[in-house]
Amino acid sequence: MPIYTAPTRDTRFVVNELIRLESYGNLPGFESATPDMTDAIIEEAGRFVSEVIAPLNLSGDKEGCTRHPDGSVTTPTGFKDAYRQYVEGGWGTLSAPEAYGGQGLPHVMGFIMEKYLATANQAFAMYPGLANGAISAIIAKGSPEQQAKYLPKMVTGEWLGTMNLTEPHCGTDLGMIRTRAEPQADGSYAITGTKIFISAGDHDLTENIIHLVLAKTPGAPESSKGISLFIVPKFIVNDDGSLGEKNGVSVGSIEEKMGIHGNATCVMNYDGAKGWMVGEENKGLAAMFIMMNAARLGVGMQGLAQAEVAYQNGLAYALDRRQGRALTGPADPQAKADPIIVHPDVRRMLMDAKTFIEGMRALCLWGALQVDLSHKAATAEERQMADDLISLLTPVIKGYGTDMGYKVATDMQQVWGGHGYIAENGMDQFVRDARIAMIYEGTNGVQAMDLVGRKLALNGGRAIQAFFALIDAECAEETSDETVKLVAERLAKANGELKAATMWFMQNAMANPNNLGAGAYAYMTLTGIVSLGLMWLRMAKVAAAAIADGAEDKAFYEAKLTCARHWATRYTTEAGALRRQVEAGGETIMALTPEQLAIA
Ligand SMILES: Cc1cc2nc3c(=O)[nH]c(=O)nc-3n(C[C@H](O)[C@H](O)[C@H](O)COP(=O)(O)OP(=O)(O)OC[C@H]3O[C@@H](n4cnc5c(N)ncnc54)[C@H](O)[C@@H]3O)c2cc1C
Repeated sequence: MPIYTAPTRDTRFVVNELIRLESYGNLPGFESATPDMTDAIIEEAGRFVSEVIAPLNLSGDKEGCTRHPDGSVTTPTGFKDAYRQYVEGGWGTLSAPEAYGGQGLPHVMGFIMEKYLATANQAFAMYPGLANGAISAIIAKGSPEQQAKYLPKMVTGEWLGTMNLTEPHCGTDLGMIRTRAEPQADGSYAITGTKIFISAGDHDLTENIIHLVLAKTPGAPESSKGISLFIVPKFIVNDDGSLGEKNGVSVGSIEEKMGIHGNATCVMNYDGAKGWMVGEENKGLAAMFIMMNAARLGVGMQGLAQAEVAYQNGLAYALDRRQGRALTGPADPQAKADPIIVHPDVRRMLMDAKTFIEGMRALCLWGALQVDLSHKAATAEERQMADDLISLLTPVIKGYGTDMGYKVATDMQQVWGGHGYIAENGMDQFVRDARIAMIYEGTNGVQAMDLVGRKLALNGGRAIQAFFALIDAECAEETSDETVKLVAERLAKANGELKAATMWFMQNAMANPNNLGAGAYAYMTLTGIVSLGLMWLRMAKVAAAAIADGAEDKAFYEAKLTCARHWATRYTTEAGALRRQVEAGGETIMALTPEQLAIA
């Protein structure tokens, strides 16, 4: 049975010492986020997910979800009771607006809970996770009546929500959707069409499910400019809030899939279902991006989540499993063999993983803080800066974060050797569950294109220039600490490679857009490495200062400095190679004909 312990000490380090949530106490919602309060939430959230949610991960994977002959769907044994406890504990309400029954705490706290849930059980976490995207869209674009009708119960978790974008013939290119929305005399729309791959499409966790559905009204342009967004409840909600008749939406089937078996991925049939438009006609794409941006950060955290749980199990195994002897001579001469943790190659995988996980946690929570600041910072300039940074880095957190999450999960499976491949040990589940995060919410290739095709050039490159300036300033600070010096020097160099790659795009993408597309992935990876470096430089500074101040927990801070050096000496070596990949352009990538691509 795999183990899981919530990393509360490291989370508190990021919240209290790195991003210093307390220092924003003058902003609305932050005043109650004192260290006492946030520490208590972190500890209790950790206890809840470790005791209630994690034990259902392996069993949920084995049992999966069931569609019954009457079309109803049930989740794996234990999910319903665990979800009840989740709602009763108010865990989904941490960062939701107080106006709808939320606790109004900073986004950072909601992100921590979301991440803990996904580490303990990604399939389970996706039920409330998808609802968060739907809630964000209704808050941003819903009418006051829609907000009053749906949000209070969605925020408390009494009802869950879904996102219905994908259709059999279109996933990335949503401009092609065929689902139709016919206006009705009563102001509603009749929604007809088929959506596939809908996460949490149906289940037995809540009495109602609020589907957000993309569809086209009659005569709408045949492109993404013709998409509108609709609320389609599973059960119609009466004006007094009670539930009315069952709507014309049903589950055709549950997809058989590689992982996240505990989450019902459904084919949804809309058969003249009653829907209500959210926002303006043909402006569904803007609303959709609100859902997707919230969801993309959440999916980036899933990469971190699977890496984290796989790492805990990889480390435990490396300490226990005995094979061979340390290169420097027996570490445990009394035993017939040493634990495999003595082998540098096993250590390589563990150190790569730990460095990614702790760096990524910092990046995700710093990113969550930018979301908060983009709404609540004191000045318009600060709000804009935060918005620029999080918009720029959302595809990086999603794309790089999930690529690395998958890599770490497979590395930890590798630490288990052949036993990692045997299903009963559970390491394969982490790999299978991690894999989907690279695909949904826009594939990682599409994230890379979002970064270079949209985000780089936006507002004359304001966001990327702000990012460069942030890193330059961080690297330029004087220090006497050798680790901080090393990390600053390597980060400045990697940032230089990123600047050069950016410049190359500016000079070569207009002439041939394939140059942009061909280099996008390498550029996203390079930005990911640099972003992680920014976090490691900041963490190294905090750790060095804590040690100089005589911190009690010296070993914790020393480990931070070692990981910072690991980032500086091992992660940055790729930076130059990635820049050169960008500069190679699209020539070889686009040269061959389909016939030449076939291997004769
Ligand atoms: C388990 C699971 C759960 C899901 N949950 C949901 C959900 O809740 N709601 C929902 O609406 N959808 C959901 N999806 C759908 C998911 O978001 C899509 O599968 C994904 O966006 C990719 O679309 P596609 O599968 O049609 O691939 P395609 O769009 O056909 O892409 C195929 C390949 O082409 C590449 N490609 C396509 N267009 C471009 C481009 N312009 N530039 C560069 N490369 C491109 C892609 O990167 C990919 O490698 C889910 C999918 C799965 C498997």
